[in-house]
Amino acid sequence: MAAWQHSAMLLSAQDRSSTLSFEFPLSRNAALDRLATFVPKAGRSYAEGRNSDAGPGRHQAVSRLSSALRRRLISEEEVARAVVAAHGSQAAAKFLQELFWRTYWKGWMEQHPAVWRAWRRDCDHRSKDLPAGYDVAVTGRTGIDAFDAWVRELRETGYLHNWARMQFASIWIFTLGLPWELGAAFTFAHLVDADPASNTLSWRWVAGLHTQGKVYLASAERIRLHTGGRFDPQGLATHADVPRETPAPDIVPLRTFDRPDLHAPTLLLLTPEDLSLEMEPMLASLHVRRVVACRRLCSGAADIAAVADGLQRASSHWQAAAAWVDDLEAAAALAASEGCSQIVTGYAPVGPIADALAAHRSSTSMRIAEHCRGWDARAWPHSRKGYFAFAKCIPDLLLAAGITNGDTD
Ligand SMILES: Cc1cc2nc3c(=O)[nH]c(=O)nc-3n(C[C@H](O)[C@H](O)[C@H](O)COP(=O)(O)OP(=O)(O)OC[C@H]3O[C@@H](n4cnc5c(N)ncnc54)[C@H](O)[C@@H]3O)c2cc1C
Repeated sequence: MAAWQHSAMLLSAQDRSSTLSFEFPLSRNAALDRLATFVPKAGRSYAEGRNSDAGPGRHQAVSRLSSALRRRLISEEEVARAVVAAHGSQAAAKFLQELFWRTYWKGWMEQHPAVWRAWRRDCDHRSKDLPAGYDVAVTGRTGIDAFDAWVRELRETGYLHNWARMQFASIWIFTLGLPWELGAAFTFAHLVDADPASNTLSWRWVAGLHTQGKVYLASAERIRLHTGGRFDPQGLATHADVPRETPAPDIVPLRTFDRPDLHAPTLLLLTPEDLSLEMEPMLASLHVRRVVACRRLCSGAADIAAVADGLQRASSHWQAAAAWVDDLEAAAALAASEGCSQIVTGYAPVGPIADALAAHRSSTSMRIAEHCRGWDARAWPHSRKGYFAFAKCIPDLLLAAGITNGDTD
């Protein structure tokens, strides 16, 4: 990570610490409470209200579950199950479609990991010589009222409404003429739900790099309408030039990985990629001797809070002592000293944690096995093309998860 990204992350973590856990669930109980409050609104009310940005502290029309879903304090499957139980899959179709975007982006990135690597390289390169207009943009001094307000909201709360994220990215790229890569780095550093796949690929989608010939151009009129007249942005681009880049790399097969040996003495490693492994029936009989988390695999206050919650639950579920260690070397050393023959962790999709695990694997003899949830394993093979094709599989995915029974409702 470049130094500027790191300091932005630390700064934003401090700035946000007071609002973080209040608005955005960072423990499993808080996520379950939020889900229970939101479920009644997940049907028609969500479909009608989801594109209105009411402003900071007023985003009740949407779930604000992303901080928890991103870390799997609660799973997509649990959320889908609760919503379908309350509304049926037809009435909740819009919400389910949005929920599945996360799954789709992760699966697409798994099969195009070069996109992640290219973005990281590009950010490192560009941050050495930031373009004119960058500072004005990231400090919210462009004079475009909506954009400047969203910069403030993002910095102060760590969140932007999905619709606002789309306008924000579009203005960044097409009106301010700034590289999408730096915009993605800015939101990644500040979002409480920062996610390698959803963030990088959503920026590419807005830029017109995901679906050929399709860009997202923000319009002043729509912004006035969807923000209840709070903003009257001037000077927005009326034409979009799709950024030029080398052709997207070819699709690669889904990564193969070691699966947990359920009988082997195990050190369970919790990372912000999956913090409710105790809910996975397949892992119920895992022979866990210690539960650990690595500070180096956490990227700010939100990760630390969520992982601490995960450690507590895992420790009590498997009746094993929990500990924080600095890094993967320390985790492997602890595993060896406890007589464990494997480290088991939740599957790490493309991103910094997968990168760290891959680097560590090449230098250790300790086996690192990953548990991939059925939800992902079933959906990702369908995440090869556009979302339209993927969405056609949603009814089958819900059926396979036992959330629907195949009857139309
Ligand atoms: C430029 C840009 C950057 C983004 N960066 C991130 C990011 O770093 N991390 C992240 O989690 N989401 C990202 N998103 C997706 C989306 O904006 C957030 O997931 C959503 O706003 C979270 O708020 P919510 O939980 O209230 O969403 P709700 O509207 O309540 O949706 C419920 C859940 O569905 C999923 N979801 C909804 N919309 C999307 C979407 N467009 N893409 C992927 N998943 C979706 C999320 O898990 C969300 O929590 C980005 C979108 C854009 C346009």
